[in-house]
Amino acid sequence: MAVRLIILGAPGAGKGTQGSLLAQRLNIPAISTGDIFRAHAKAQDELGKLAASYSDRGELVPDEVTNSMVEDRLAQPDCLNGFLLDGYPRNAGQVEALDAMLAAHSHKLDCALTLDVDKETVIARLLERAKIEGRLDDTEDVIRHRMDVYEQSTAPLIDIYTQRGIIVHINGVGDIKDINDALFDAVTRAVK
Ligand code: AMP
Repeated sequence: MAVRLIILGAPGAGKGTQGSLLAQRLNIPAISTGDIFRAHAKAQDELGKLAASYSDRGELVPDEVTNSMVEDRLAQPDCLNGFLLDGYPRNAGQVEALDAMLAAHSHKLDCALTLDVDKETVIARLLERAKIEGRLDDTEDVIRHRMDVYEQSTAPLIDIYTQRGIIVHINGVGDIKDINDALFDAVTRAVK
């Protein structure tokens, strides 16, 4: 059965790590808009340069660009069996765009997974990641700005998906495998 998921949570909540592990277990692609933008930035193509001009400052890439990139990605054959979106949607406009993409194929989301992690823990994790990965948007100022953008634009999506009855909250602090088991169990229960 096809499973269509999004994973929400603050920057540093563990969406990338948990999303890719969970997607592997469910045999669906994990699609991270941040990863796709970083791949384009590395290739220094037009999309990458444009995305980096926003991402490096901790700003969101404009919706038209992001939405059409996601639409193209979801049209790939590997998404027929479902997908897990990590880092998208990130504001109310992107929720509407995703709704339209899904409705065009009579599809719907099964769950909006949310990793709950307190603010100081995510900031500490991102500063740690900065030392390891050297991402340009992992400096303390940019991290704080990304947290503000998250709180203003993305956190309200939790209410939207709560109203739709598909939100699943999972504690994102603890052992990676335990957290993943909790996510897997929640999805299994939701799609039964
Ligand atoms: P992430 O790896 O999810 O933390 O994303 C890194 C950066 O990529 C973000 O700070 C944004 O600049 C950009 N980005 C990723 N996903 C989106 C999105 N859905 N909408 C706009 N910008 C995005």
